[in-house]
Amino acid sequence: MKLVKDTAELKEKTSKISDKKAEEAVRTIIEWIGENPDREGLKSTPKRVIKAFKEYFQGYNDNPSNYLTKTFSEVDEYDDMVIEKNISIRSHCEHHMAPIIGVAHVAYIPSKRVVGLSKLARVVDAFSKRLQTQERLTMQVAKTIMDTLQPRGVAVTIDATHQCMTDRGVKKENTKTITNYFLGVFKDDLSFQNRYLRYINRD
Ligand SMILES: [Zn+2]
Repeated sequence: MKLVKDTAELKEKTSKISDKKAEEAVRTIIEWIGENPDREGLKSTPKRVIKAFKEYFQGYNDNPSNYLTKTFSEVDEYDDMVIEKNISIRSHCEHHMAPIIGVAHVAYIPSKRVVGLSKLARVVDAFSKRLQTQERLTMQVAKTIMDTLQPRGVAVTIDATHQCMTDRGVKKENTKTITNYFLGVFKDDLSFQNRYLRYINRD
């Protein structure tokens, strides 16, 4: 059974809006905050914002599980955890479209198949570059690795700051949000989970 739903439908919806229409929307917001969108410094801003947004949200064009299809079997006797620590995260919250900035830690215990190390970071990126909640992001990364690689277990931790909380609203600038998602042996066997937590909490 697939643990992660397809986002193809979402992609289809976004691609129906032209760049020009999106630029007009940015222009409207510039006017709405009380600025003059025609003054020199702002004339090309809608274009630049759209270009930046394409980068922030390029994850909608990405199928994260594709990064995990190329595997290596020559290390198939390696049976302990592989941990990628401090993978930097740049995402946006779906409630305010405000930045979420932090790090992810991803671990898995291979059962025969091992992936290139950078691929775990690619999966994190593909899901980060969408409108997210930290909880869902954590879960999607874990479930995609579980679905595609079918390892003995997966652990994902995200430690991040939400600018919608630090810069507006309740304005608690030092608050960090930590989320964990465990599958397989990391969920069922606390000794694996504890070892993982010790590694990621060590400098
Ligand atoms: Zn928010």
